[in-house]
Amino acid sequence: MDLPKKVEVLVIGGGPAGSSAAEHCALGGAETLMIERRPKIGVPVRCGEYMPHNDEIRSIFPDAVDVPSLFDLPSYLRSISCEVMQILSPKMRVYDLPFQGWTTYRDRFDQHLASKAEKAGATILTGTRCINVKGNLVSTDLGTIEAKVIIGADGPLSIVARSLKLERPADMCPGMSTIARGKFEPIPKMFFGSIAPGGYAWIIPKNDGANVGLGYSKLFTEKNLHDFWIPFKEMLGHETGHLYGKMIPMSGPIARTVIGDSLVVGDAAGQVMPVNGGGIPIAMICGRIAGRAAADRIMKGVPLEEYEKEWRRQVGRQLEVAVKTKKLAMMAFAGQWRLEMAMRMLGVRRMGKAIRCKSVFP
Ligand SMILES: Cc1cc2nc3c(=O)[nH]c(=O)nc-3n(C[C@H](O)[C@H](O)[C@H](O)COP(=O)(O)OP(=O)(O)OC[C@H]3O[C@@H](n4cnc5c(N)ncnc54)[C@H](O)[C@@H]3O)c2cc1C
Repeated sequence: MDLPKKVEVLVIGGGPAGSSAAEHCALGGAETLMIERRPKIGVPVRCGEYMPHNDEIRSIFPDAVDVPSLFDLPSYLRSISCEVMQILSPKMRVYDLPFQGWTTYRDRFDQHLASKAEKAGATILTGTRCINVKGNLVSTDLGTIEAKVIIGADGPLSIVARSLKLERPADMCPGMSTIARGKFEPIPKMFFGSIAPGGYAWIIPKNDGANVGLGYSKLFTEKNLHDFWIPFKEMLGHETGHLYGKMIPMSGPIARTVIGDSLVVGDAAGQVMPVNGGGIPIAMICGRIAGRAAADRIMKGVPLEEYEKEWRRQVGRQLEVAVKTKKLAMMAFAGQWRLEMAMRMLGVRRMGKAIRCKSVFP
């Protein structure tokens, strides 16, 4: 298919935010086109592939609406379920946190969401990169297209956000992941300390091995990803595949996500839990809100600002709490001993609150 000259709603980026937006925009009756720069949706995987169970999503975001229907995902996307998550301190002290989650196959996951968007009536053009946005005109490597509404779901280094002169998240953390082959205990493990300053390294078990990777904050070190990867890989002692990396916005949502008839959503809007780097559930929740708002703009003339109000109503408060917790954590991250002591002081109960975006104190 060639790039059309005009469309009602153009979604840029085919990750969880973009596909959820495209699906709900098409369901709302608007003519919807989603473009994705990669030739194949979801490939390669750059993710820990860990998802919270629906009950956990409801506990983290109690104001999010219709969680069960949004996260009604087919069983073939599930690898294994886990009831506990292990947090390991710099001195390898183990904290077992009750947390219900499951591991997925992120490529199939993203492809499933894109197929839902197509079934709803959206058109998808892969291998099509957005180069720039000026007003309602979007330049791509296949030509220029005019859109009444533009949804920027193009990830952490969003071209759409940059073109619209929107703020960029202050703490962009490099992260990378790969698959390790072999047998692993069916418990996700997160390692804190100098192994990944300001972030953590992980082993997230799957049926056929484990997703392994790490993310760290550049605020604490000048070293690069490979400097951290090499000792972590030695510690793992397993054969690993090709490494894929990406930035993770870890400082909370940007101040403004709508400008004129354009909006940004998902990583492009900094909608990631800053306490743990998890962004798939919020990308889907906010993507659905964005798609509905875009359809309402086209079909009923409702201002796009409704999107900003609605995502802040559904997930904003929890993200604000998580930003405050993250600021406290950054003080602890400044030294190994300090981090060890902070983890002891927090204990399992408060760590559980922190990862669920709840106030740690009192
Ligand atoms: C190493 C790592 C591990 C992670 N682990 C987890 C995890 O276990 N659980 C979790 O919940 N979250 C995890 N995250 C975060 C999660 O991956 C993101 O928050 C989530 O993918 C956000 O979805 P999105 O749709 O906003 O962005 P993305 O998934 O990044 O999708 C953006 C899409 O836009 C496309 N795109 C980019 N630029 C353009 C352009 N110019 N034109 C057209 N298309 C474009 C990209 O190719 C991509 O497909 C991890 C992130 C990283 C980096």
